[in-house]
Amino acid sequence: MDREDPETLEREPAVGRDGDVTTDVLIVGTGLIGATLAAALGSAGLRVTVIDRLPGSAQVAPNFDGRTIAIAHGSHCALRAIGVWSAIAPHAEPILDIRISDGRLDPAGGPAPVSLLHLHFDHRQAVRPGQAAAPMGYIAENRHIRAALFRRLGELDTVSVVAPAELATAMRGEDAARVTLADGRAIRAALLVSAEGRGSLLREQAGIRLHRAGYGQLAIVVTAEHALPHRGVAQEKFLPAGPFAILPMTDDPASGAHRSSIVWTERADLAPALLRLPEPAFQAEFARRFGTHLGAVKAVGQRFSYPLSVQTAERFVAPRLALVGDAAHGIHPIAGQGWNLGLRDVAALAEVVVDAHRLGLDIGHAAVLADYERWRRVDALTMVGATDALNRLFSNDIAPLRLARDVGLAAVNRLPPLRRFFMRHAMGVVGDLPRLVRGEAL
Ligand SMILES: Cc1cc2nc3c(=O)[nH]c(=O)nc-3n(C[C@H](O)[C@H](O)[C@H](O)COP(=O)(O)OP(=O)(O)OC[C@H]3O[C@@H](n4cnc5c(N)ncnc54)[C@H](O)[C@@H]3O)c2cc1C
Repeated sequence: MDREDPETLEREPAVGRDGDVTTDVLIVGTGLIGATLAAALGSAGLRVTVIDRLPGSAQVAPNFDGRTIAIAHGSHCALRAIGVWSAIAPHAEPILDIRISDGRLDPAGGPAPVSLLHLHFDHRQAVRPGQAAAPMGYIAENRHIRAALFRRLGELDTVSVVAPAELATAMRGEDAARVTLADGRAIRAALLVSAEGRGSLLREQAGIRLHRAGYGQLAIVVTAEHALPHRGVAQEKFLPAGPFAILPMTDDPASGAHRSSIVWTERADLAPALLRLPEPAFQAEFARRFGTHLGAVKAVGQRFSYPLSVQTAERFVAPRLALVGDAAHGIHPIAGQGWNLGLRDVAALAEVVVDAHRLGLDIGHAAVLADYERWRRVDALTMVGATDALNRLFSNDIAPLRLARDVGLAAVNRLPPLRRFFMRHAMGVVGDLPRLVRGEAL
């Protein structure tokens, strides 16, 4: 491993006399969730090995992932507690306001008109009396979050990263799990964690059933440059094909241009044609949806796309195995909550594992895993249900539904306690919170 270049970090773990690597926790997947769990457990002194089929250098390349993450307040506290936030902070834009409105496309090609009935969240109204106001969250590019996580893993002697490495077999016995890699190497661990994302092989091998439904939608992701500053305001417009989100980013460090990250939901049968449009036609379609509130606007850089679906694993654990993040539940990005939900899995799993380890207990024991599953199930299923219902309610142009949702948005807007309730949920600070999400050390 080149310790001077943390973005290309690969540290081989020590091999035992039987030829196997032995570690406390083996995490499969160094995506945004697996890398966060490795950093959390490694910071608390557990020996962690984390593998991925892709090297870190590929995952931080600008053309790998064009998305940003809306980091909720609770997730921000957790990133701070595990020593990752300071490297993300220069690239993170605070979210001060969120404006949600219903809109439709102007058939004449003009900017999308928005309904006068709307919902406005102001960060100053999310706090209880006497508390200081804090941003509702931050927007940061995925590649910068990944780079910060890899940098942190490079600082931790307790963490070994093996990548590229493909999982071949996994055996989960009474006392330990043993995984072999495609190149023949073997790793033994008390606990195996799948952070493999939606297509988890470990979940499938464990026979855990998956409930899944496609949305027939695709998210087009681009960066917008606009003439006027966004002033920390995130906008979500519900257009007939689905939500169009405008998320405030930091100004371009080189040119100083004002920027926002766009998540533009379209029908899956129409989106490929939009993505292939020549530049002037694409810019016209883009500007039509974006509107004129930030002055002249253009989409810059690569056009990325992501198919959208919802899925939930029937169980989040099996003997010596825990699922975290998208491997456990994958949701629609309508509320920017998928990674935040996974981050709460990370914080809860890290807490039960670290507590068991401190007491000298078996960290992969069924009782430890049952605690994790019990803790995470309700939050995850609630978020799956809420985002699914929101997307179905808003991604259509049916007149009575349009009227009902507009009235609903306006009603919430007029009721401060209800508004505060939604804001605190979006900030990820509701319910039985793990220590990391409260900003405490593990
Ligand atoms: C358009 C869009 C916008 C979004 N915006 C937000 C947002 O604003 N806020 C938010 O909270 N969430 C957001 N999300 C959701 C968020 O991106 C995901 O929830 C999150 O990235 C999931 O991370 P993960 O690490 O669980 O999975 P993944 O990112 O899928 O990572 C899995 C990793 O495991 C590796 N892997 C898989 N299988 C194997 C194997 N068998 N062997 C070795 N390696 C393997 C892969 O190479 C990969 O690196 C958005 C999603 C989309 C589509």
